[in-house]
Amino acid sequence: MSRNQTLFEAACKHIPGGVNSPVRAFGSVGGTPPFIQRGEGAWVWDADGKRYIDYVGSWGPLILGHAHPQVIEAVQRAAANGLSFGAPTAAEVDLADLLCEMLPALDQVRLVSSGTEATMTAIRLARGFTGRDKLIKFEGCYHGHADSLLVKAGSGLLTFGNPSSAGVPAAVAADTIVLPYNDVAALEAAFAEHAGKISAIIVEPVAGNMNLIKPSPAFIKAMRTLTENDGSLLIYDEVMTGFRVGLHCAQGLHGITPDLVTLGKVVGGGMPLAAFGGRADVMAKLAPLGPVYQAGTLSGNPVAVAAGIATLQLIRQPGFFENLTAKTSQLVDGLQAAANAAGETFCAQSVGGMFGVYFSKNTPQSFSEVMAADKARFNAFFHALLDEGVYLAPSAFEAGFVSAAHSNDDLQYTFAAAKSAFSRLT
Ligand SMILES: *Cc1c(COP(=O)(O)O)cnc(C)c1O
Repeated sequence: MSRNQTLFEAACKHIPGGVNSPVRAFGSVGGTPPFIQRGEGAWVWDADGKRYIDYVGSWGPLILGHAHPQVIEAVQRAAANGLSFGAPTAAEVDLADLLCEMLPALDQVRLVSSGTEATMTAIRLARGFTGRDKLIKFEGCYHGHADSLLVKAGSGLLTFGNPSSAGVPAAVAADTIVLPYNDVAALEAAFAEHAGKISAIIVEPVAGNMNLIKPSPAFIKAMRTLTENDGSLLIYDEVMTGFRVGLHCAQGLHGITPDLVTLGKVVGGGMPLAAFGGRADVMAKLAPLGPVYQAGTLSGNPVAVAAGIATLQLIRQPGFFENLTAKTSQLVDGLQAAANAAGETFCAQSVGGMFGVYFSKNTPQSFSEVMAADKARFNAFFHALLDEGVYLAPSAFEAGFVSAAHSNDDLQYTFAAAKSAFSRLT
């Protein structure tokens, strides 16, 4: 038995499913997850000493690659001064200033420790600010695991959501309206039906938790116009897209100023750090200034803040996103060429440093179209690539990530592996 298998068996004894976050368990693709021992640049090494080019990047944060020397140094320097104080530190001010400078939508920002906390609180704040309870989210978008977000569409689309997890009270889910992504007519109908009762729309402005789905220009515009006209708030959940699709996030690409923004992943550079922020009048409702409560023992943790600042400073260098975007589109072009040569029904696309691959004829526009892709074929491709030393996200329903550390040689290695993997499918 391999060391990975031995470790996984041992892990299952005292950790439910052997993992501390479910998708890591390889449930969707089958097999045993490799246990990662270390990472450097674009590569990770598992417990059996096998190495992989990593296109997961800790599910998005590692835009500079693994163990970037400047980020590690910043973390070591901060850690030497103490790990946590539960009192204000100067570096938190620096990070807040930097975020508000980079994103015009942010007048103020609060630091938290996970994307889930950021979205959960942004929604509470939107409800507290508007005095309304209803929330619109879109099918296939993930916003962390707070109760009011673990909801799927009910039978009547415009009426009530149903819990998508056991343990979520039906009463909580009932205030969440779940609509299809990119469906302007459904959005207009929901605002007509629930006028004056909707606190906010929360959206992944480029969806990356149902593989990668791009929003249509009409959809982007409708969300902004409808919320503005109804007095509800637009929350851009940029936990994944923030500083991943571009220096000014998806809102910069869209030319949209959301009322609230949530950030995570890249903003913490691999450490547990996330943030939410937005309009001054909305943020003024937050404790200790206002009546909407939120707190965190480790919020603004100095070591995490140091990693975040070091990361943001590096991605602000001129040309960073131009290079990352070009490299990521080179990756999807190369995968497409390998698929075409093998006669495979396959397509791929990218936005900034994130990408999607689909075993379908056309790039999907919604959750139902993603679900229609050939999942069994993805799973076979995933395992063939893993054998070849290329690590994709272990699910057909996740986006992939390229880092600044991925070199041209790494891309060429990936194309050769893909060629071999496609040939093994047929
Ligand atoms: C990852 C993610 C979250 C949740 O963040 P955690 O840090 O895992 O809690 C929320 N929203 C989006 C869009 C995400 O991709």
